[in-house]
Amino acid sequence: MSRVAVIGGGISGLAAAHRLTELDSPFDIVVLESGDRPGGVLATESVDGFHIESGPDSMLSQLPWGIDLCRRIGFTDRLVGTSDQHRHTWIVHSGRLLALPDGLAIMAPSRIWPTVRSPILSVLGKLRLACEPFVSRRSAATDESLADFACRRVGREAFERLVQPLVSGIYMADPQQLSIQAALPRFVEMESKHGSLIRAARRAAKSKKATPTGDSSSPLPTSMFVAPRDGMGSFVSALTERLPSGSIRLRTTVKHLSRQSDGGWRLSGDCDSNGFDESFDAVIVATPSDCAARLVRQTDASLTDQLSHLEQSGCIVVTLAFARKDVAHPLNGYGFVVPQVEQRDIIACTFSSVKYENRAPEGQVLLRVFLGGATRPELMELDDDAVLNTVLRELDDLLGIQGRPSLTRIARWPNVMPQYHVGHMDRIERIEAAVATIPHLELAGNSYRGVGIPHCIRSGEQAAERIQQTVGAV
Ligand SMILES: Cc1cc2nc3c(=O)[nH]c(=O)nc-3n(C[C@H](O)[C@H](O)[C@H](O)COP(=O)(O)OP(=O)(O)OC[C@H]3O[C@@H](n4cnc5c(N)ncnc54)[C@H](O)[C@@H]3O)c2cc1C
Repeated sequence: MSRVAVIGGGISGLAAAHRLTELDSPFDIVVLESGDRPGGVLATESVDGFHIESGPDSMLSQLPWGIDLCRRIGFTDRLVGTSDQHRHTWIVHSGRLLALPDGLAIMAPSRIWPTVRSPILSVLGKLRLACEPFVSRRSAATDESLADFACRRVGREAFERLVQPLVSGIYMADPQQLSIQAALPRFVEMESKHGSLIRAARRAAKSKKATPTGDSSSPLPTSMFVAPRDGMGSFVSALTERLPSGSIRLRTTVKHLSRQSDGGWRLSGDCDSNGFDESFDAVIVATPSDCAARLVRQTDASLTDQLSHLEQSGCIVVTLAFARKDVAHPLNGYGFVVPQVEQRDIIACTFSSVKYENRAPEGQVLLRVFLGGATRPELMELDDDAVLNTVLRELDDLLGIQGRPSLTRIARWPNVMPQYHVGHMDRIERIEAAVATIPHLELAGNSYRGVGIPHCIRSGEQAAERIQQTVGAV
């Protein structure tokens, strides 16, 4: 039986290992994970009636790969949609929370009136946005930054007040550097197909209305985002339970990877406080790209060089519980995002117990605040007291908070958010071409073709399928 090592037990590595178990060829699978639990940034703490997410809290249901995996492992009945009651997102404007206009998908309003009526943009900003259908299509096929693309199409004010905060909440990126082709390819496609984002969004809204909504007996939630009712940790558990017993080795850090003369791989590193040294027929490296770069150094120096150019940023997630009566704001929405031009210290806040059911006990609210990212890396250096004081000051100012939090958690995630800079997709093609020349080695993870959980699942599963095509055929 061929032995396959998966380095990294985040969702990418777990999806790869699980896919190997589904394929025809029998594999002896070992997942090597340096942490003391599987899941990577997917981590839930359940305590006193709270489900606290330190990392992601949901996944996009429109991308098929996450939902498909949930179906295959019998997990769909444990997914919930976002609450129907308060479908708003708020945006900070001159120190106040204003509702994001209905029908606005980042920078493509399917209905112009809600944006025109909203006080978020000035009269000039609204006029400029309304002129978007008359902005000529860009002829060059080269990549550009999110900032350049958005300013060109919808104007600087709409970029600063709407687009930048909505995208920063997802990518924690510098919009002057973030690649539009890598991060938001559907907007590039809208421009090239329809010549206008507004026109494309209107047509999409019309055809959505005309299309029947499908199988009403489906147990799947229909909202744009879905989440495990008991938190992401329950998804990780459901997935790991499907792997052969003993296949996950925790507290195991791979430090060296070298090719053997028989075409296989030798892996060595630390396992608890001991060393290990083992041979495998094939390897899937499902770690962040900086670690992948170090691991392939002996095999292909130019691949290491390409991988080293992929940058990562970090963020801090602060979760706080308050008695409902201590928060003055009605919390009638999923949360708020903060434009950089507001010059505040937080990027976004999710009203977790409003967005999803089963997050907090009766009478309590659970809020999640994000800090740091590519534009405020210095905040990562703050100690816990300073982080907490910063967050409490901001929340008090924006939501009107009276008492102290009844629960506080601070999760630090240094260097885990890949930064897809302009030219990212060209670099990924070069990386993939180089990896394709190395037998029985695959890369997977959020550094390459998408940061969302569904993208990571697809990345891991595709790596597993490529391994089967080569190793499985031996
Ligand atoms: C705070 C936060 C919120 C997010 N929110 C969302 C969201 O709501 N929805 C969404 O879709 N996405 C979200 N994302 C993005 C998404 O969660 C991640 O892109 C995805 O989970 C990354 O999975 P991964 O397996 O590629 O990487 P990771 O989760 O980083 O896993 C990599 C694993 O490799 C291990 N490892 C590293 N080096 C070694 C080594 N040498 N040997 C052995 N093991 C090693 C690490 O310990 C880690 O467990 C969020 C991300 C963050 C950080």
